[in-house]
Amino acid sequence: MKTAIYPGSFDPITLGHLDIVRRAADIFDKLIICVMVNAEKNPMFSLEERLELVQRVTKHIPNVEADTSDLLLAEYARKKGANIVVKGLRVVSDYERECQMALINKKINPDLDTFFLPAREQYTYLSSSIVKEMAKYGVALEEFAPQEIIADIMGKVR
Ligand code: ADP
Repeated sequence: MKTAIYPGSFDPITLGHLDIVRRAADIFDKLIICVMVNAEKNPMFSLEERLELVQRVTKHIPNVEADTSDLLLAEYARKKGANIVVKGLRVVSDYERECQMALINKKINPDLDTFFLPAREQYTYLSSSIVKEMAKYGVALEEFAPQEIIADIMGKVR
């Protein structure tokens, strides 16, 4: 059984993240989305809220589960018996950062490999920060965030 971990801050989960989740869930037997504690300094949503939003938008995908962790990713993967980390790549700067992370993770846990998926073209500009910025200016979020969580995002900027 191939278990992969998709880590991130997911503050909040976007349509770009969800696209990576769907594609990775098609490839691996099980995908654990891990909302990381340290990933974001001043989050819009608490860790518990971010986890609940992830669970809400992925509950219909049977081989996906969501979790939180304050462990080092390489340690968390070991604990879960997973040896693949999934990352989405949008631009070259993502590649530079993620390659460095992949190498560090492999150094700490030599069994761990990183699997990169290119962002879908229409989501290459999309990030959680962009979603939050758009929300502040009252831009409609339908093309950026899952429908089920738009009211939650707008609720944070009112
Ligand atoms: P963000 O960069 O939006 O704040 P995270 O830190 O939660 O998001 O990112 C977690 C993972 O999701 C990273 O691998 C990141 O590259 C990837 N990711 C973020 N946004 C997208 C997107 N629009 N398309 C594909 N992958 C993405």
